[in-house]
Amino acid sequence: MTIMANHHSSLSYLDTARPEPWASFIEQIDRVAPHLGPLSHWLETLKRPKRILMVDVPIIRDDGTIGHYEGYRVQHNLSRGPGKGGVRFHPAVTLNEVMALAGWMTVKNAALGLPFGGAKGGVRIDPRRFSRAELERITRRYTSEIGIVIGPDKDIPAPDVGTNEQTMAWMMDTYSVNVGHTASGVVTGKPIALGGSLGRQEATGRGVYIAAREAGLRRGIPVAGARVVIQGFGNVGGIAARIFRENGAKAIALQDADGAIANPAGIDIPAALTHVAAHGSLAGFAGGEAISGEDFWQMDCEYFVPAALEGQVTPARARNLRTKIVVEGANGPTTPAADDILHERNILVIPDVLANAGGVTVSYFEWVQDFSSFFWSEEEINARLESIMVKAFAAIWQMAEERQVSIRTAAFIIACQRVLAAREQRGLYP
Ligand code: NAD
Repeated sequence: MTIMANHHSSLSYLDTARPEPWASFIEQIDRVAPHLGPLSHWLETLKRPKRILMVDVPIIRDDGTIGHYEGYRVQHNLSRGPGKGGVRFHPAVTLNEVMALAGWMTVKNAALGLPFGGAKGGVRIDPRRFSRAELERITRRYTSEIGIVIGPDKDIPAPDVGTNEQTMAWMMDTYSVNVGHTASGVVTGKPIALGGSLGRQEATGRGVYIAAREAGLRRGIPVAGARVVIQGFGNVGGIAARIFRENGAKAIALQDADGAIANPAGIDIPAALTHVAAHGSLAGFAGGEAISGEDFWQMDCEYFVPAALEGQVTPARARNLRTKIVVEGANGPTTPAADDILHERNILVIPDVLANAGGVTVSYFEWVQDFSSFFWSEEEINARLESIMVKAFAAIWQMAEERQVSIRTAAFIIACQRVLAAREQRGLYP
């Protein structure tokens, strides 16, 4: 089997004029090829999503008109288990983006050793422009439309940008009504009362902190006393900020979709979280000085945490960043070209597929608890999360040292070995 570069161009359904972020994913996969030995024979598998479902999501708006929205569910790879990955509600959702996010889930789940393939979904809407009742109708219709490919042993969605535990409650209810029985294991990130897991909501942020701490230990940069800059102050960035602070770091700058603020003495994170809960964003928060986007990307710090969207760390920003370690809370925040610049500048990057894997790890615990209808304590959950993250971090770090590659490539090597070994052992049907 030949391995070709630029594979996105050979998928006829992709817009070749706008190849990102799938092109970044393909480039990351290409970088692994020399390290896979005979398994590279199967690498092409990872350059093609196994299954793509595109759906029309029509609803009656509150004003009586009919709105139509574009929905997706992509199952990138199912060699190691059912699909797993979030659902995004955002105006920039495209097939290309959902494919890349699904691909990163395949790699993340395999790198952590979780028994899942990779999947992702999304609806191209700005959730802030819809009423709660409209969002419920969009969520229910979308769930019904993708109902043919999801299920507790087929593909298990979870929250992502623009969705939350309420979205998951509606998805679980809709799927359950359609199949005729309560199927709590069809989604994770649910409210506790519906079979959700303790610790799930904060798991991604907690994992970001664990990854940062492990990196800091190896680089001699302790979290306690460190200065942290965070882009994105939602589920991931907000909770990571809180846990960094609880462990003695100070967040000196934050940015969200409405602007950036800085405070060299350290931003009062609990107050910032309260402000966002009340007002929807950091705009108007008095605990810091407003700064420009340009200044935000040049703040002197020890840890920089992109926790918003993909493609944020561009080559130009990578040249300016004044940090020691980048911990990727978001999926795909750093382009491959920016990755190379950070590497040349000796800035350590802890990649998304490791750094933000805390969320899917506790989603795995939630799914297991739902299957057994036996629920664990928060202490037990946090201890198991800690143990899985620390072990995965150590194995990936060791691979990076052995092969003299970046932490990202090391994580991809471990993940691709697992996925492609499964592919080879299962064999091709027919
Ligand atoms: P969220 O919707 O809760 O928060 C997103 C944050 O990013 C908000 O503060 C928003 O204002 C900000 N933002 C949006 N556009 C921005 C821009 N252009 N510039 C600066 N800030 C901007 O979403 P989330 O769940 O925290 O997800 C954030 C990232 O983390 C995404 O890449 C997501 O895929 C990834 N992730 C999330 C989870 C999870 O469990 N929620 C798990 C793993 C990875």
